[in-house]
Formats: sequence, structure tokens, C-alpha cells
Amino acid sequence: MSISRRDFLKIASAAAAVSAAPVFKSVSAMSTKPSAPPTFSPNYCELCFWNCGLIAKSVNGKVVKIDGNPLSYRGKGKLCGRGNAGLGLLYDPDRLKHPMLNIGKRGDPKWKKISWDEALSFIANKLNDIKQKYGPEAVALFSHGTGGSFWKHLLKAYGSPNSAAPSFAQCRGPRDVGFYLTFGAAPGSPEHYDFAKSKFIVLIGSHLGENAHNSQVQDLINGLDNGAKLVVLDPRLSNVAAKANWWLPVKPATDLAVLLAWIKIIVDEELYDKEYISKYAIGIKELKEEVKDYTPEWASKISEIPAATIVEIAREMAKHKPNLCISGGRFTVWYGDDSQRSRAIAILTALMGSWGREGGYYLPAAGKVPKYPGLPEYPDTGDSISGDYPFALLQVTNAIRDAAITDKPYPCKGWIIYGSNLIKTMPNKTETINALRKLDLVVAVDVLPTDIVDWADIVLPECTYLERYDDIGTGKFQTFEVTMRVPGMKPLFESKPSWWITKELSKKMGLEAYFPWNDIEEYLKARCEAAGISFDELKQKGALQFNDKANPYIAADNQPEFNTPSEKIELYSKQLKEHGFDPVPKYTAHEEPPADHYRLVFGRSPLHTFSRTINNFMLHDLIPENELWINTKQAAKLGLKKGEYVRLVNQDGIKTDTKIKIKITERLREDCVYMYHGFGVNSANLSRANKRGIGTDELITKYTVDPLMGGTGIRGNFVKIVKEA
Ligand code: SF4
Repeated sequence: MSISRRDFLKIASAAAAVSAAPVFKSVSAMSTKPSAPPTFSPNYCELCFWNCGLIAKSVNGKVVKIDGNPLSYRGKGKLCGRGNAGLGLLYDPDRLKHPMLNIGKRGDPKWKKISWDEALSFIANKLNDIKQKYGPEAVALFSHGTGGSFWKHLLKAYGSPNSAAPSFAQCRGPRDVGFYLTFGAAPGSPEHYDFAKSKFIVLIGSHLGENAHNSQVQDLINGLDNGAKLVVLDPRLSNVAAKANWWLPVKPATDLAVLLAWIKIIVDEELYDKEYISKYAIGIKELKEEVKDYTPEWASKISEIPAATIVEIAREMAKHKPNLCISGGRFTVWYGDDSQRSRAIAILTALMGSWGREGGYYLPAAGKVPKYPGLPEYPDTGDSISGDYPFALLQVTNAIRDAAITDKPYPCKGWIIYGSNLIKTMPNKTETINALRKLDLVVAVDVLPTDIVDWADIVLPECTYLERYDDIGTGKFQTFEVTMRVPGMKPLFESKPSWWITKELSKKMGLEAYFPWNDIEEYLKARCEAAGISFDELKQKGALQFNDKANPYIAADNQPEFNTPSEKIELYSKQLKEHGFDPVPKYTAHEEPPADHYRLVFGRSPLHTFSRTINNFMLHDLIPENELWINTKQAAKLGLKKGEYVRLVNQDGIKTDTKIKIKITERLREDCVYMYHGFGVNSANLSRANKRGIGTDELITKYTVDPLMGGTGIRGNFVKIVKEA
């Protein structure tokens, strides 16, 4: 769905009068009376972190339609299937409607409706108690989503350094660390892949397309349209693998063997970009020595990919250097050696000379929007709870969970959970519940009654992104993008935006000096002014691009900088060696499934973002539950029929209390089963999603921690299929 740039500029500036009827006539709050002229508000989607720009059309004070904003870098005028379903969240009758106090138990709540004033006083008193008894560092914030920035600000003003995002240790953290150790920079989020201009693309366990990251999928399709060759290494023939020149159905847990063999072939045959490596990198000789045993024949035995194919692809990659992109992926927490696997991808990228080159990884534009001017300094916060992980770039969520259970390195007594369904996000639910039970305060801030809400003492209903202003958004891509969210209607029920909640809470905590603005527009105007940006223009257009680095590729006048100890690309990492880790990745064999078990492999549905959208009535109608993919031969062996419901039991004897439908397919290896994650929601207050399908969180009782950065590898769980009587 898209509108043209010219159309948008017309409607944004003139609010052109066209007749419109509400699209959800059944929603009682909406009027079907003759309409006033529609209004159009720029915004950006929050149904996943990609934050594609959109235009919300409102009639009679209600948002009735959303379209992509052609001025948005991340959406390029389009929204994905989930993004188009934003109204399914806005008008979800299950939304949290007012603040609630839990007068029952955590996990078995009894809710009492309370006023905002009561809710904020309760939280402020508890936070001040914890500060007095244990110090401010005993409170942690878990956040996922744009409104989290005001909570992070409040937490720093309170004096705690413990602001964590599960997206680090439970998703992309190992990738970022692997790339930092090599290039001194991460691939970015959204990533700086130059797919549209690539001549060769390699995806490793990444199912882009089903993992529907809007502009990245558009770029990938454009690259393929322009003739790029594609390699996909994946035990499953994903939708993108079906478009590949080479689908390599790798044995799960052995990807690193193939990567190391590719490195060896490229180094031995001197297929790397010699000029680039000699100018920008160190450690090529040491690298050659370290990978000398990783022959294609060795990798073939381990990975079950023919040695000849491994050699062929290494040479094909080299033919297309430097215009090739070996994707670092996302959700890279697999087997506990994930930073090292990501480092192998980074080393391969360096050998191909693709970092900073057309069709590889582009160099992002610089840019900054300064903070609100004149705020007081934050108090000194001391050390955060990061666990014993020397290369953790952010706070490690599971280390905070451990601190709540063990009081080490110091007690953690209060959790503020913003937009993050921790029960499903973190592996081993029992440990999460143990931690939740030990806390003095659990606050959940959310739009919907997700599973974690049942574990809170107090729940604050946030309004949706279509009903609120938020902080200014920025992104460093081939342009520096600045975005603004403008509400298309007033918040429904008693829900409130986080900028308001945190400001009011700050007054009750004696921290109002950190929130001196009278309202959000005053705050946003001051930030725009500090950046030299027109607030009015940003409010009208929703997205502005500043291209202060006209050339995103390495050139004589555009040299890359590497933020590593040597200020070069580090093929061999002395800092890893100094910390007792392998300076070049080494292959380690991972545990095999026990007899009669399959490795549990999972990924994204193209129409859902984890459990976040499972209750959305527009998306639920399309994919109401997940299915268990199993190979045809294995299904025949077990006597399974298409569409039959089964339960699963994992290696620790945990049996699912919900069932899943069988999907029989040739598109998966025989040694694993596959499902979409995010389903199997426990919250009874999510009426559509409750108990539909199976949640991978039930089955992920085992995890392996990445010793470099604390990420939780969760692909080492195995399941047996239990037929229903
Ligand atoms: Fe929304 Fe889809 Fe963009 Fe994510 S990729 S922000 S769900 S439109």
C-alpha cells in the first residue's frame, strides 16, 4: 500500500478534502455520520522496531486508515502486512484501559482499577523506599520501543545505571559484538546492507521476507531484480531460500564450520581483496595459520554441505568482490559461541573488501539531534549489572535476572518493564518467575495485557503510537533521518503516553527538574531548535533526511575509521586473546539431539512480530496459530497426518499444555522441526491469542551463555512429538 511523494506533500500541506468512510464500522467509538474533512498526521509504525514512516488519516477525530510515508527512509512509502494492521492494535477491545493495582498474587493477579494519581503515588513511594534501603541501582528498566526513551531518562535521573534491552542479549547483541571486535562498528539497526546494489548476497540462517523488515526486503528484491546472485544457508527452504541460486540445507549448529572453510579457501587461494586488506586490516598471516585445518572436506563432514559446493561458493563470492553482502543476520543467539560466529562473518566481509563498498555494507551518514538543553546532570550511577562479560556493549538482561535471584553483584529489587514481554523474551521461564517473585516492585507499562502483565504489581496503560507524540527518532543510514510521531487522535480509554506518565511520576519522586517542559510540543520544539531543524516542517512531513555524507562508500576523500585498538580491521584480535578468548573463531561441536528428538528451530511469521501482534484482530484472522513443520519422511515414520494436533515434550521433560497443528513438508531437513515463535500466549485477557498454538518459550528451558557478551544461545533445545490419544 503506498501513496506517492507528491500526493503526500499535497495532503500534508493542504489536508485535501476528500470524502471518507470509517473502515471499522463495528467499532462503537467511531462515527458513521457525514464526515468532516479528513486530517492527516505523520507518524511511524511501532509494530516492529523498524519504525517505517506512515501517514494516519483521521475522520471525526478517529484514525481510519494508515499508509506508508514516501518521505521515510525505512519504509520508502510502503508498510508491510503487519504495519498495515496498526488499526487492529488501536481498536483492540482487549487493550489495557486504566491503571490497575494487583491485590492478588504475582502470576495469579486480582486487579483493582485505580486512578493515575494513586498509581503514580504508589510507584513513587516504592521507588523511594528501594532507593533508601538498597540504593537507586537496585531498580532496573527493561524496555523495547520508542516510548522507552522517557523511561530511560527517568531511571538515570533516579540514579540507576541498569537500563537493559532484551534485544541485546536475546537477539542481535552477539552480531554487534562480533562486528565491533572486527571493524569497531556494528552493522546498524536497521542494518547498513547495500542489498539493492549487491551483485552477490549471502544469508546465513536468515529468512528475510518472512522476517519482514520493510525497506530491507525492498532492497533485497531490488538487488535480486538487478541480477544479484543469492546463497542461503538454512536447514529450512525458507521463502527467500526458494529464490536463491544456492540453497545450502546446512546441518543445524554447524554454520561456523562452513564459514571457516570459506575463510580458509579465500585466504589460501589468495582470493581476498589484497589492496583493501593491506591498507585497512591487520592479522592476515595469523588468520591463515589459525584456519589452516578447516578444509572444505572437513567442513563438509560436519555440515553435510558437499565440499565442492563449499569451494564453488567461496570462489563465486570472490568473483563478485567487493560488491557482495554477507548478512550479519538478526536474532543471532543460537549456540553460545554466537559472537565468534558473527566474527567469522565479519572477517569474511573484510576479506571481500565489502565494508564501506557499493553492494556491501555502506558507511552511514553522521548526524545528531542534541538533548533538551539545560537539563541537570544525572547523578553518578556506579557500575551497572552486566555480569562477567568483558565485551558486553549494553546491559545484559539475564545478568539483571540473576541479580534479582542471587543479590549478586548487588541486590536488584525493582523492575520497570516497558513494552517488553519478558516472560516470553527470556529463555527459561522458571528463572524469570523466580526473579519476579523475589522483587519488591514490578511495574508493567504496556498497551495490551501481555503475559508479563500478570506478574506485575501495578499496570500502567500506554496509548498506542497512533494516539501519541513520542521523542524525536533518528537513524543513520545513507542519509541521517529525523522522524516525528504526531497523534492522529486522542488516546482511547484512560491510556496515556509515556512522556506524560514519566513527567507526572517525576513530580512525585522529586525529580521534576529533569522534566522542565510544560508539554511535549515544547520539548520537541526545543530539541529541533538545538539541532537547527524546523519543528513545523518535521511535524508536517514526519521524516526529514539530512545527507551530510554524500558518498556512502570508501573513496579518496571518504576514508573509513575503525574504532578498534589498532584502528584497523582486526582479522586477528589481540584484545580477544588478552581476555583469554580465541583471537580467530574456532569451531566447537555442539550437542546433538537425543534419540527420537528433533532440534527445535524457530523463526518469524511474516504477519506477526513475536507475541506483540498475536492478538491483533486483522493479523489473527490471517495467521491465528502456528504450525509444526516436519519433514515428510519423519511424518510418515511417526504416522502423523497433515493438520493433526500434537503436543511437544522437550529434553528436560517439559510438556506443552497447548497443542500445535502438523504441517508436513519437504522444505525442512529430517533432523529438526520448525515453528513460528510468539504463539501459545498464556494471558487470558488476550482473548484471541490465548492458548492458540505452542510458544517456544515453554520449550526453551536450556540456554548457553556467550562468554564474550552474555547473550543467551537458545537453539540447543530438542523436542519429541507426543500424539494425542
Ligand atoms: Fe511496521 Fe512492518 Fe515497518 Fe515493522 S517493517 S515498522 S511492522 S511497517
